Amino acid sequence: MLIKTLIIYNLYMKSLLTFCLIFISTNILAELKIKLDQEIEELMPKVIEWRHDIHQYPELGNREFRTSKKIEEHLVSLGIEVETKIAYTGLVGLIKGGKPGPTIALRADMDALPVEEKTGLPFASKVRTTYLGNDVGVMHACGHDAHVAILMGVAEFLAKNKSDIKGNIMLIFQPAEEGPPEDEGGGAKMMLEEGIFERYKPEVIFGLHVTNIPNGVLLVKSGPAMAAASSYRIKIKGVQAHGSTPWAGIDPIMATSQLIESLNTVVSRRINIINNPAVVSVGMIKTGTRANIIPEDSMLMGTIRTFDPELRKEVYEEIEQIAAGVAVGTGTEITVEFDVGGFFPVTYNDPKLVEAMKGSLASASPGKFVESDIPVTGAEDFSYFSQEIPGLYFWLGVNKPGVGLDAVNFGDRSGVPGNHSPYFIVDDSALDKGVRAFVHLVDDYPDKF
Ligand SMILES: [Zn+2]
Ligand SMILES: [Zn+2]
Repeated sequence: MLIKTLIIYNLYMKSLLTFCLIFISTNILAELKIKLDQEIEELMPKVIEWRHDIHQYPELGNREFRTSKKIEEHLVSLGIEVETKIAYTGLVGLIKGGKPGPTIALRADMDALPVEEKTGLPFASKVRTTYLGNDVGVMHACGHDAHVAILMGVAEFLAKNKSDIKGNIMLIFQPAEEGPPEDEGGGAKMMLEEGIFERYKPEVIFGLHVTNIPNGVLLVKSGPAMAAASSYRIKIKGVQAHGSTPWAGIDPIMATSQLIESLNTVVSRRINIINNPAVVSVGMIKTGTRANIIPEDSMLMGTIRTFDPELRKEVYEEIEQIAAGVAVGTGTEITVEFDVGGFFPVTYNDPKLVEAMKGSLASASPGKFVESDIPVTGAEDFSYFSQEIPGLYFWLGVNKPGVGLDAVNFGDRSGVPGNHSPYFIVDDSALDKGVRAFVHLVDDYPDKF
């Protein structure tokens, strides 16, 4: 009887011990996530307030002085080591965790766009500046205000709970993602050239982008996720004349219009895109000063999106051929330059990393995680970071709750204005999923690799 009792007692103790161990180990594993659940309600109003403030005072690439200062003050107030003025206005903060582990980089981009805001929001931007010689409005039309605010929130939470962090967290606040001013360089590439990865030695990098898909959706694509972005600039030189006597000049506007038509045949008629997507768009035309003058010069610029370097070469050759043909046909002199505003490689999500971390994203927004197999023709200079170390870049849906039906079909924008639109609106209620996603990733990563 005694023996039986002892066995039962032993079994009881054993199971109690096992239960305790399981409890302790899950508790250790999920320490940050549990604390975040307790703290996020208090944190999010601050994140939203920062976002609105940054949104109201947007700054173009390499000019993010106010934004950068605000981030610096915030990080310093949290006791985080900060390095400033990297690639003009960039910052890196380092949070040293209380437990051993790798250095994990989290990245937010800070720049706005030359877009005049038309959202009518109470905190809409009224900022104007000169860009490429034109007076323009400035707007956070790509949502980088949300990226900064989310990462400031993550920084605050992690700094307060650093004893639970396994390893170190490298916070990268990056300027000029949309492309720096032409003669300056900048962005992710320049931050790397200035040695941030050599100094901080991150093992992995995570980044997110807000977009017009359903609220709270976290979407990731393994492998090539976003296109390579190249640009072209075509300069056309004619002979200036009175508009009443076009035969006395050589008309660069006529040549420009022929170029536009022909450029649109590169993808539709000249290259094979059946298994290999490509986009050629004209984004800017600059010419003329007056209705009755045929000008001397014209200029047009555009973007090229590809996933395959061979196809990209073909696109470049086609554009050069078109330009040469139009020059002969119109008697103008035409020059073509590529990648004047820089070049972004394909954004590649490390498949092993995606496989290991998708559960962390799923738990950050339960029921709203989507793994897509459709690459997008948008581009990101995050690609420079993830060329150096394994990276994972994901999307966060910021539509108004209930708006947008199909997150799986990324092409279905459901009529909601998207990134770069003057009507693009980030719904604040989705931002906590961004904070959660980063915290879940940094909490889980060290246990998986
Ligand atoms: Zn953008
Ligand atoms: Zn963007």
